[in-house]
Amino acid sequence: MATVSDDKLPTFRLYIDGTWTPGTGGTYDIINPATEAVIARAPNARRADMDQAIAAARRAFDTGPWSRTTPRDRAKVIRRLVDGLERRKEEIRQLLISMAAAEYVTHYIQLDTALEMLANYAELGESFEFEQMLPVLVSQGPMGAQVNNSMAYHQPVGVCGLIPTWNFPLFVTVQKIGPALATGCTMVIKPSPYAPLIDLLIAEVVSDCDLPPGVFNVVSGESPELGAALVESPLVDKVSYTGSVATGKKILQAAAATLKRVHLELGGKSAAIILDDADLDSVAPFTAGPSFFHAGQGCAMCTRVLVPRPKHDGLVDRLSSFVNAIVKVGDPADPSVMLGPVIRAERRTKIEEYIAAGKQEGAVLATGGQRPADLPRGFFLQPTIFGAVRNDMRIAREEIFGPVLSVLPFNDTEEAIRIANESTYGLGGAIYTTDVAKGLEVAKRIRTGTLNINGALNLVHTPFGGFKESGIGREGGHWGLLEYTEIQAIAWK
Ligand code: NAD
Repeated sequence: MATVSDDKLPTFRLYIDGTWTPGTGGTYDIINPATEAVIARAPNARRADMDQAIAAARRAFDTGPWSRTTPRDRAKVIRRLVDGLERRKEEIRQLLISMAAAEYVTHYIQLDTALEMLANYAELGESFEFEQMLPVLVSQGPMGAQVNNSMAYHQPVGVCGLIPTWNFPLFVTVQKIGPALATGCTMVIKPSPYAPLIDLLIAEVVSDCDLPPGVFNVVSGESPELGAALVESPLVDKVSYTGSVATGKKILQAAAATLKRVHLELGGKSAAIILDDADLDSVAPFTAGPSFFHAGQGCAMCTRVLVPRPKHDGLVDRLSSFVNAIVKVGDPADPSVMLGPVIRAERRTKIEEYIAAGKQEGAVLATGGQRPADLPRGFFLQPTIFGAVRNDMRIAREEIFGPVLSVLPFNDTEEAIRIANESTYGLGGAIYTTDVAKGLEVAKRIRTGTLNINGALNLVHTPFGGFKESGIGREGGHWGLLEYTEIQAIAWK
């Protein structure tokens, strides 16, 4: 439960086995990326705290009532959680702004959609066929003919180690806890060191939801050792991680020792393909998105824009005019701001290295590329657009995770499809066309987990996840639920 420290900053606690504890490692500072001010102190857990949380989750799964509750009772708990979070919505909004630098234009996804998704998990859990009856089989046994009944039974997968990320902190946590609660799992959440406060706030709401102790635990801290402890522990059955490819690969390797179920939501370098018939004026504001929407810090953003060669210059001009005329850069606490800072100074330095690489490799910097002169504090960067980008350049191949957009010309649709697929990633994608049937045909040839045509978006009901190095498994909807079950065959006569 949050308290106020001597210097008037809120101080949070760990939630382990149904009790609040300061943990054994003291606290660390959470900073606002727009002002660089310290906004709160978070518990800096050590390995011993994590071990305690894992043991509590194991006990709650093996000997507590939760894993045997009915789907209906679990749905009630989820609805109580949604109601509690709705009551604290404005508090969450303020944390999204001050901790994750979430601009108001992103709040519909960050907040409203996340709560809608959680509520949807109550419905999904209630209607999910945990017992699927199979056709009756008559067979010849040693004593003659016998009638065999059977079913596929979906057990909860068990103790889940959940490692969400910082860019959409409520949304990504909900993607994991929604299905975990709906299926009867127990869990330990290890939030991102940059943004643990919403997870700790969720624990405060959970503590009023009548969940048995140990079902829901939150352990925050700076050390990567905490996440590693979850992956290595033989007491944890499944890990769900959202973050970078590099860490995803380490997790997959470490999980091999216990053959844990691993779910990975990793990065992307998604392509928006503008087909020849699309109207550039209406398409430009959509495709400019990654150069400003949440400062480009979204894994499924289309950071490569593919445009027919004759239309390349026209598009680059429209994109540059759009971001320069419309996009206000500044502190996300101001509702009119559309582009806030990136999460930390070291991330900005990395993005600046990519901007330098783009120039050096011959891409044409159309706009941006600098720190805004009028914002000396905070980790700001101008919206940046490169034209004449080739797909072999680093800015086209690697995920930048900052407000940087690359425009690549193509000669025909076949080449556009080849360029879009020529990536180690496969997370998001977009197609712009006036011919939806043609758009659907092209969509089915793009090797990517999600694809929208003309800006359509459904984050509540659709499966979300990656092909190739963008990840393993799916979150969202019925598919997200399945990831939190083990399928058991039971036959009887
Ligand atoms: P990161 O790799 O730095 O991940 C950090 C998290 O992993 C922290 O919580 C850390 O403690 C933990 N960790 C570090 N080493 C670990 C280990 N060996 N075992 C277990 N846990 C370990 O990534 P990030 O900075 O949080 O996120 C940035 C990246 O995440 C971007 O590349 C972005 O594309 C990706 N991302 C993906 C999605 C998605 O849904 N696919 C969403 C947001 C961000």
